[in-house]
Amino acid sequence: MTTEQVGTEEEWARAVKALDGASEICLACHIRPDGDALGSMLAVAHALRARCGPPPTSPSPFTAPVPIVASFGDLPFEIPRILRFLPGAELLSPPDAFPERPQVMVTFDAASPDRLGLLEASAAAADELIVLDHHASNTRFGTVNLIDDAAAATAVLAFELVSRLGVTLTRDIALGLYAGLVTDTGSFKYSNTSAGVHELAAQLLQTGIEPGAVAHELWDRSPFGFLGLLSAVLGRAQLEPDAVAGHGLVWTTVTRDDRAAHGLPYEAAESVIDVVRRTDEADVAVVLKEDDDGCWQVSARSKGQADVARACVALGGGGHRLAAGFTAHGPVADVMTALRRQLAIVPAPAGGR
Ligand code: 5GP
Ligand code: MN
Repeated sequence: MTTEQVGTEEEWARAVKALDGASEICLACHIRPDGDALGSMLAVAHALRARCGPPPTSPSPFTAPVPIVASFGDLPFEIPRILRFLPGAELLSPPDAFPERPQVMVTFDAASPDRLGLLEASAAAADELIVLDHHASNTRFGTVNLIDDAAAATAVLAFELVSRLGVTLTRDIALGLYAGLVTDTGSFKYSNTSAGVHELAAQLLQTGIEPGAVAHELWDRSPFGFLGLLSAVLGRAQLEPDAVAGHGLVWTTVTRDDRAAHGLPYEAAESVIDVVRRTDEADVAVVLKEDDDGCWQVSARSKGQADVARACVALGGGGHRLAAGFTAHGPVADVMTALRRQLAIVPAPAGGR
């Protein structure tokens, strides 16, 4: 962990002190949460709850459990189907039940305030705002910024926070952290997978997590309609060998109509990028996913030549060098023209997701 980026010891101490002194703690992760955002938040929620209970053997410094509010800024408020196996759904509440002016608020995996959706105003009004994140594009919008772009996942930072809170790792805490770690390393496949990542995974597995069961929930399940959706969207994928300064671009769209034809929710579109990015002939893979409001949620992946974070930030989004995204409106042709122009700017400095 690079101390100059993750924040000083003083910042960690300030975060722990704020959490220790709070009469209520509010947690928020980014909208349309992935395994890292929701997993990290639920892990910390479990840890805070455990910490608040009086220890069985010694007199507790805490007289009563501190109330915890945990949410993300989407309405309707729905936990993505693939994350419903995570323990702690009962700790979540919808964003309209979130305090307007939190005393202490912690955000997870959100690179900028707009990624908090309906909870952006609460973050702006919070007395103390602790930002836990690993995006290089993070705008440092907290009063305490615990940000490390060398961390493979926000879960790595959440683990550090749990440790500093002095909470013993339980299976519930570990499962959230493990979901974050495997999500953001693509199950230990991406270039951010390090010895440290495997060491943390080993510690988490010690609590009794079954890695096969987690992988099954996250990646090996879909309704039958997904096969029809894949067939349609892969069938119209475009390969542009000359794009990305000759390194190649492959892209496709998943429209609302595609999903409606197969009775699928928005989240069904999320894994399409993992198939499209297999294309050998293209450094960059892009999927434009139409959400229920008619906006394009664009996912971009690079194999190393292009810096998709730079391109996506230029278009109002964020992310990592090899995995990034942005939100767009209007005709697909216009979105792709703007994106192609940004992607033509290569090479990029070396680095990883
Ligand atoms: P995914 O394509 O898996 O949704 O996202 C890949 C990465 O890009 C994630 O780290 C996420 O934070 C970032 N990202 C995706 N969509 C957006 C967006 O609309 N805005 C911003 N700021 N970042 C995004
Ligand atoms: Mn993440």
